Amino acid sequence: MARLEIRNLVVSVEGKIILNGINLNVDGGETHAIMGPNGTGKSTLAAIVMGHPKYKIESGDILLNGESIINSTVDERSRKGLFLAMQNPVEVPGVTTFDFVKTAVSARLEKDQRLRVGKFIFQFEDAAKALKMGSNLSERYLNQGFSGGEKKRNEILQMALLKPQIAILDEIDSGLDVDMLKLVGENVTKMKSQTLGLILITHYQRLLDYIVPDYVHIMIKGDIVKTGGKELIKKIDNEGYDWLKTELGIDELEEKTTQYSLGNCANSLFGEGHH
Ligand code: ADP
Ligand code: MG
Repeated sequence: MARLEIRNLVVSVEGKIILNGINLNVDGGETHAIMGPNGTGKSTLAAIVMGHPKYKIESGDILLNGESIINSTVDERSRKGLFLAMQNPVEVPGVTTFDFVKTAVSARLEKDQRLRVGKFIFQFEDAAKALKMGSNLSERYLNQGFSGGEKKRNEILQMALLKPQIAILDEIDSGLDVDMLKLVGENVTKMKSQTLGLILITHYQRLLDYIVPDYVHIMIKGDIVKTGGKELIKKIDNEGYDWLKTELGIDELEEKTTQYSLGNCANSLFGEGHH
C-alpha cells in the first residue's frame, strides 16, 4: 500500500530556508489537507516532493513506500506513483493534450506492456466528459489559451488517467467558480480509494466541503504547527490564522506574512507566483 513519509525536511531556495523541518506521513486511503497563509511554503513542499530542481534539500528525507526518493528524477517519481497538480500549470504549445497524457501514461507502464490506444481514447474521452472539458480537448495544445478553471480541471483529468498512489493537489480550487469547484470535488472524491493517498493544499475551507479530509495540517512559516481533524477547518474559516499566533507565541506572524507576500509578487514576475 502507498505510503509517503516526509522526515525532518529542511528546504531552501536561492539560499533562503523555506521549509523548517517538516514531518508528514500519508498512507493510502487517507486524505490530508494542508492549510496556511500565503507564502508559508505550501507550494515549496509540493514542488520538493515532486523533485523540482530549483529547491534544495538541506536535510531530512522523503520516502515513498519505504524508499528514499530524494535522488530520483521527476519522471522516476512519477513512475513510482507520485502526482502533482500544479498551482500554475504551464502552457505547452505544439503538444496536444491527448499526446501529452498518452505519453505520460505509456511511460508508466512496465517494460513488457504496451498502451492499448483504442481503449485509452475511450478513457480519455470519459474523463474529459466527466470534467466538462469540451469534446475537442484531445486536439487542443496543452493548457494553451485554457481558462484558469480549465487548466485546473485538466490537471484532474491527468490524475484520473495516471492513477497515482500519492497525489498532491496544490490550490486546485483557485480560479474555480462554485459549480466547477463542486465538479472537481466530485471527480476527486470519486477517485478516493485505499490505494490513493491524497494531499490537498488550500487556504480556503470551500474545497474541503467537497473533498472531505481525514487530517488537517496548518502550516506557518515553513513548518506544520498544528494537526487536527475537520474541526480545524471551521476554526480557520471563522477566525483566520491569528489565534495560532497567540497559542504558539508567534508574534511576528503578520510581519512575516507581509514579507512573504512581497516575495510572492517577485515570483509572479518570473511566472511562478500566486494570483
Ligand atoms: P505558499 O504556496 O504557501 O504560498 P510558497 O511555497 O510558494 O508558499 O513560497 C514560500 C516562500 O518561498 C515565499 O517567500 C516565496 O517567495 C519563496 N519562494 C518560493 N518559490 C521560490 C522560487 N522559485 N524562487 C524564490 N523564492 C521562492
Ligand atoms: Mg502556493
